[in-house]
Amino acid sequence: MSASPDTVAREVARRRTFAIISHPDAGKSTMTEALALHARMISEAGAIHGKAGRKSTVSDWMEMEKARGISVSSTALQFNYTISDPDTGDTEVAVINLVDTPGHADFSEDTYRVLTAVDAAVMLIDAAKGLEPQTLKLFQVCRHRGVPVITVVNKWDRPGRTPLELIDEISERIGLTPTPLYFPVGIAGDFRGVLDRRTGEYIRFTRTAGGATIAPEELLSADAAATREGDEWAAAVEESDLLSEMGQDHDEELFLAGETSPMIFASAALNFGVRQLLEALVELAPPPAGREGVDHHDREVTDPFSAVVFKVQAGMDSSHRDRLAYMRIVSGEFERGMVVTHAQTGKPFATKYAQAVFGRDRSTVDTAYPGDVVGLVNAMALAPGDTLYTDEAIEFPPIPSFAPEHFAVLRAESAGKYKQFRKAMDQLDSEGVVQVLRNEIRGDASPVLAAVGPMQFEVVTARMKSEFGVETSIQNLPYSLARRTDADSAADLGRQRGVEVFTRSDGVMLALVSDKWRLQYIEKEHPTLTLEPLVATA
Ligand code: GDP
Repeated sequence: MSASPDTVAREVARRRTFAIISHPDAGKSTMTEALALHARMISEAGAIHGKAGRKSTVSDWMEMEKARGISVSSTALQFNYTISDPDTGDTEVAVINLVDTPGHADFSEDTYRVLTAVDAAVMLIDAAKGLEPQTLKLFQVCRHRGVPVITVVNKWDRPGRTPLELIDEISERIGLTPTPLYFPVGIAGDFRGVLDRRTGEYIRFTRTAGGATIAPEELLSADAAATREGDEWAAAVEESDLLSEMGQDHDEELFLAGETSPMIFASAALNFGVRQLLEALVELAPPPAGREGVDHHDREVTDPFSAVVFKVQAGMDSSHRDRLAYMRIVSGEFERGMVVTHAQTGKPFATKYAQAVFGRDRSTVDTAYPGDVVGLVNAMALAPGDTLYTDEAIEFPPIPSFAPEHFAVLRAESAGKYKQFRKAMDQLDSEGVVQVLRNEIRGDASPVLAAVGPMQFEVVTARMKSEFGVETSIQNLPYSLARRTDADSAADLGRQRGVEVFTRSDGVMLALVSDKWRLQYIEKEHPTLTLEPLVATA
């Protein structure tokens, strides 16, 4: 029997599902570990100042997995976080889902798709580097989807920029107004603690050897802080007041509307600011919400089960059977074994082998609620954006395809394999591994692949070989951006230097352009031609 709407509503209210958006090296892994470590210690010890140590992150992960059955997997991490009300002593257990945004070499369309499965994002930036390219791209996807963003300035224990420089950079470059919840006391490289801007009190952190344990916190009044930190405290108060005068205090409505961003200064390596981040997530980030289906049919969180597939992962060298689809639950209760309907085909899908994705052993999951991520094995028919449901039918809008930046021609080495080649191409296209573009000049035998990250081309050639027995070769094309166009503009665009027009398999016409200067030139010289940005990521 499935859970009552009341049970589902309660589970939804305590859930927060988010992703960290950052540039490689900003400290995402370190912060992820710090968050989970922090949450675990609190939930076990029931106190903020845990004693257990963090000797090495790797072995600690294994310990943590054994003890709690959690780990950072490639896709999602779930943990509990207990908050106690200092006035009443009541405790509340929040359930946090952290969905991973693959970066580095595995940066791909999946990285963006993950952001369709979360309700909030934490934008993690390096105190010395500020906004970096990958962070900007991911931020644009959040903005486009209306995902509210909490900003964390990491590595405050190392020399970096000043708080006001970082705040200005974010306001000016991306039009997002930071509203620090806490203001750092001590410049970057001399991180002493933070001024809680909402209470005026001072939270003083104490370093532990090598950041091995959760940093003890001491709460001091403003007067005590002034005595203790002198000029450093005075500077923090002054700058914080300046922000208040400019209206840069937290405003929940503006945050949820994506106009402002609560900001936290942290050191993931020292565990400074990690508790503050967890509390901001629980207090300020929105719980899972219902979604609108196509035909403007709404699904409320307490309605019968529904979910969206946001990522499909196939083993590069193994069989089809190892295909995992990750779904985010939108409504109702999920129970393993449930038979759900796949909206795109109308066919039933058995979930006997549903897996919690937060366990290296692929531990099975028995029940899950809106906001949770569940992996489904053997998910041959499922593609990113697909809907699963029980009871009343629902179909959610497809995930948009994101602006590709890498383009290459794919060819089968042997002409005799054309049929398999074509079949494989259709399969990889429908799974959303790459976008497939064609035009009459190049013909069907040499489609152009478009991807967000260059690694996707290697995935294609590897799977062509292992799953379909087709040897292929890849030749990169000298284009770096794509714009949506139409039949009226196609002929004129085709005559421009550095431009080639294609039709994508979903029928959308795309003009590939060599670089942004070329694009600017064409836009200026031929203002009537249609050249619309795809879902903007840059
Ligand atoms: P990712 O690529 O974003 O996952 O970054 P990592 O978590 O792997 O961190 C990159 C490097 O920065 C590692 O050497 C970390 O030890 C270091 N690092 C991460 N957070 C901090 C921090 O708060 N302070 C300092 N000093 N180093 C940090």
